[in-house]
Amino acid sequence: MVADLPDALDPSGWGNATTFPARPPSITMALKFTLAPLASIQITSIVTDEVDHFTPSPSPLVGKAPGLIGGAVPLPEPRCGASHELKMDRLCCGALGLSLGISAVPADGVGGQGRKPRELLFDAGPLGDLWARNASNMGYDAGKVEHVHLSHWHRDHSAGLEDAVRMIAERKKEADGQVVVDLHPDVVVYRGMKTPKGVVSMEANPTVGTLEEAGAKVELNGDAHLVLDGTFLVSGQIPRVTEYEGGIQGGVRLNEDGEWVEDELIMDERMVVCLLKDKGLVIFTGCSHAGVINVCLHAKEIFPDTPIYCVVGGYHLADATPERLGSSLEDLMKLEPMLCMPGHCTGWRFKFMIEKEMPGQMVPLVAGGKQYQAVPELKANSDIDHIKGNE
Ligand SMILES: [Zn+2]
Ligand SMILES: [Zn+2]
Repeated sequence: MVADLPDALDPSGWGNATTFPARPPSITMALKFTLAPLASIQITSIVTDEVDHFTPSPSPLVGKAPGLIGGAVPLPEPRCGASHELKMDRLCCGALGLSLGISAVPADGVGGQGRKPRELLFDAGPLGDLWARNASNMGYDAGKVEHVHLSHWHRDHSAGLEDAVRMIAERKKEADGQVVVDLHPDVVVYRGMKTPKGVVSMEANPTVGTLEEAGAKVELNGDAHLVLDGTFLVSGQIPRVTEYEGGIQGGVRLNEDGEWVEDELIMDERMVVCLLKDKGLVIFTGCSHAGVINVCLHAKEIFPDTPIYCVVGGYHLADATPERLGSSLEDLMKLEPMLCMPGHCTGWRFKFMIEKEMPGQMVPLVAGGKQYQAVPELKANSDIDHIKGNE
């Protein structure tokens, strides 16, 4: 299902060289990074499109904190023997967008900080007040965030940044800390879509200036780089290889001359990758405008000898044709991830297809969820923290 490239290109370094086309060696050679292996990862789904307080984790590889019980607060006086009350306004809400808090526990000490979890915030969703509400309801400690990553300049990922950064910076003030906000240098203020009614503009993205005012130490990065002592890799531009993943049809941006110009490929999109020890790569993708298969192929390009363990985030297949859904699933299965954690723009049809063809290997992201990869003891402790955070 992927485009044919000339046979002359070196096919080494791919998960399945007979299926996927090779990249020119010059590109492959330029991407040499070593990730610090992790003992475990905790993913806090602060914002994604869906909520689901009840469904247990369908995979023994992923633990899940109790979603509903987090909304229970102690009653001032027992009510006929009941000690707690379930407060609906303490539960989390979904919204179009994505924000994930990622706690990475190094398997070995890194950066003089031993095995202390390293904390990356991946996107901040579409609304600052929703980010603050969900984070607070989950007991998510904004003050622990060390690095904020924006996957791309779309408002369903960026608009919550100012409030999130303000909260993080406020919490860090005591320690005189500043939070790094890692942005692609091709800053886009307005993006939109061409429709039969004309261009529909999105609201403005935050700017470098507004984020600095909120307390960010902005770093502009268009190339792949390691962050937090090598616990995470932030990618550079994601190469477009497959023939069926073509960005957003009708996508436009407002240029400096006040003209709406074609912008279907969203080339500023970047993914984040980390490495679970003895398991493989965990890939975080915001909206997969590059195509979720292209995202995975690029991770394999950077780390050719490491299997893909899990793909987390928006697969952007909600509005895909049946043909594209089929091609995406076929190629995803060839990449052999142990786990899929789709959310945001993935759409129920593709999730259904994964569940059907890869039963038990999908754990969907839900807003207000805490999910833990391969670490029973951390799961137990954090569950307790989660409940305590609401008291
Ligand atoms: Zn997007
Ligand atoms: Zn999105």
